[in-house]
Amino acid sequence: MTPARVPVMHCPYCGEEDLRPSAEAHASWECRQCARAFQVRFVGLLVGREDR
Ligand SMILES: [Zn+2]
Repeated sequence: MTPARVPVMHCPYCGEEDLRPSAEAHASWECRQCARAFQVRFVGLLVGREDR
C-alpha cells in the first residue's frame, strides 16, 4: 500500500529538514531554513523506459 502523499524529507535547495506543508498550494512545502517554497510533483513511472 502506497500512501497518497509522502512527506518530503529534505529541502532540495539547502538540504535542511525543517520543512512544513504549505497552506497555500497543494503538494507545496516551505523550508524554514532558506525560506523557499516549492512543489513536489509526480511526473510518472520509470517502468518501461529504455534510456537507463
Ligand atoms: Zn531550504
